[in-house]
Amino acid sequence: MLQMQIHCPKCKIQVNMSYGLHSITSSNYFMIRGILKCNDCGHERPLTLDGESIREISDGLPDQQSDTLNSGIAEDIKEDIREAERALYNQCYKASVTMCRRALQLSLIDRGIEDKWLSKMILKAKDMFSEKTFAMANSIKGFGDMAAHRRESIESEDAKIAIYMTVKMLNELAQHGSEP
Ligand SMILES: [Zn+2]
Repeated sequence: MLQMQIHCPKCKIQVNMSYGLHSITSSNYFMIRGILKCNDCGHERPLTLDGESIREISDGLPDQQSDTLNSGIAEDIKEDIREAERALYNQCYKASVTMCRRALQLSLIDRGIEDKWLSKMILKAKDMFSEKTFAMANSIKGFGDMAAHRRESIESEDAKIAIYMTVKMLNELAQHGSEP
């Protein structure tokens, strides 16, 4: 039985964790790669156990952008971004980018844009965006289309960029809505 101390970087809870599945700890044939979730605040951090040792543990998911989401953004859209980040960590890049596209579409619907072709929706929302963010929205759609409909490969970098752009776009859209 192995013991380790683990803490939540967000709510600072410290716990003892033990693990001791013989088939795993007695050999180096297996590696466990997963997400450790704090039951108190929901904060997620990656953890990799390799044989008997911890190979990797970090304070948050890589490139975690969802922490910077504007508080005015709907909870289900925030969850889409968190899902995109989990998918990125789990190397499901197409799934990750598809979640970004979904967040874009839902956020436009929330702004009163009629749900139809996404390219038309983005065009209709043009005056809600800066020029740069408008271009980002089109790029998110582009990545999302590739991930959902085409036989093109999506790499880790693509998913990282898509999440980054989607968070920026969502924040700007939320900002726009709160201006007088
Ligand atoms: Zn916590």
